[in-house]
Amino acid sequence: MLVIFGFKNSTQNLGLAQATCPHCGHRAAQRVDRNKRAFSVFFIPLVPLGSSYSATCTACAGTMRLTRGQADQILHGAA
Ligand SMILES: [Zn+2]
Repeated sequence: MLVIFGFKNSTQNLGLAQATCPHCGHRAAQRVDRNKRAFSVFFIPLVPLGSSYSATCTACAGTMRLTRGQADQILHGAA
């Protein structure tokens, strides 16, 4: 019996927000993403393995990892 298993990564764009970029130092739009990872069988994600958050600067394309709280702060304009 052949079983195909692996990991599936997916990215969900949560929105754009203005924040100061730690890479270039400019206040620019940051694209905030949630990255989810799951164990999959036959390409169907079955077991979620957690998620992480990241922000990508639209000015310099620098990416930084965020906590969920930091992502919420950026999206609600507190950063
Ligand atoms: Zn930047």
